[in-house]
Amino acid sequence: SDTYNNDEDSGRVRVAVRLRPKNAEDLHLDADFADCVESQPELKRLKLRKNNWSSESYRFDEVFTETASQRRVYEVVAKPVVESVLGGYNGTIMAYGQTGTGKTYTVGRLGKDDASERGIMVRALEDIIADRSLTSDSVEVSYLQLYMESIQDLLAPENINIPIHEDPKTGEVSLPGATVVKIQDLDHFLQLLQIGEANRHAANTKLNTESSRSHAILMVHIRRSIHDKSDEITSHGKETRSDLLGGNSIPRVRKSKLLIVDLAGSERLDKSGSEGPLLEEAKFINLSLTSLGKCINALAENSPHIPTRDSKLTRLLRDSFGGSARTSLIITIGPSARHHAETASTIMFGQRAM
Ligand code: ADP
Ligand code: MG
Repeated sequence: SDTYNNDEDSGRVRVAVRLRPKNAEDLHLDADFADCVESQPELKRLKLRKNNWSSESYRFDEVFTETASQRRVYEVVAKPVVESVLGGYNGTIMAYGQTGTGKTYTVGRLGKDDASERGIMVRALEDIIADRSLTSDSVEVSYLQLYMESIQDLLAPENINIPIHEDPKTGEVSLPGATVVKIQDLDHFLQLLQIGEANRHAANTKLNTESSRSHAILMVHIRRSIHDKSDEITSHGKETRSDLLGGNSIPRVRKSKLLIVDLAGSERLDKSGSEGPLLEEAKFINLSLTSLGKCINALAENSPHIPTRDSKLTRLLRDSFGGSARTSLIITIGPSARHHAETASTIMFGQRAM
């Protein structure tokens, strides 16, 4: 809707909040308590209860209630970013929130039995594949997991510790060691996602950790040939001349990149008194999410310096974040009063971008 399509402040991160429906556990354990949040979607506001008699209201670019469909969330939050990427810009879509609040449902759901359940990754690829002008062009994906500041290839899980490369001239961020797969059609992409999910599960079982502790990152590269001289490219986007000779017109290729990120659970891991490896893990997760928060904050304040060097996550986002890139953040929360503190902290994270 309007706030998402407004180009005037394109460098800003758009923030939507999505409230998960109550599950059996909420209904059982919270039966005697009022919900901790109340959504006011028409006002694009969310009320967080502070105590029995007062609440605080926060404004977002969009507020999705528990009945919002996957389709609507995609159309409002993700589609403007996907369109911008099809137009030659980089873009990022991220889900942030406590474990169990619907990040993976929102972003990574395959919807194999019911296409209406499909999440953002699948819908984005569907739109990208359907884009008719891309017929002779290419769509390639990599699928990665970032855990403890180490990047693992989810399409070739033996491949761990993939280094991040940054082109000193263009600033372009790439992962030369990661598997890149050219996508033929949506079924092909669904298969890859499924393989990636299985590998993620296996890797985390081996490490005796949970997938909620790692970030999952889908990288989509779009390479578009521009044959028509009248299709003038202005100052935006990344553009390179191809080596091919093409008669009078100079064939050019414009590259753009979409990152879709299912972030690690934002809950504080140290609250249960973790020690040793668990505490180390908590520090690393806190490092990437904290540095992401700092970058989002810097973008919101129009700061000339976005501190992307502090973590692998933000280094990876560097060229897909701010500037001409379009960024959407979906924060996911549950309704339960039991998780009031985590919900409040998630809302605050989202507010830092506004
Ligand atoms: P997270 O990735 O944040 O840990 P999940 O996406 O795995 O959370 O969601 C936790 C559970 O809640 C899953 O069973 C998921 O299917 C369900 N769920 C999450 N969001 C919704 C929603 N908007 N509608 C229906 N079910 C949801
Ligand atoms: Mg998840």
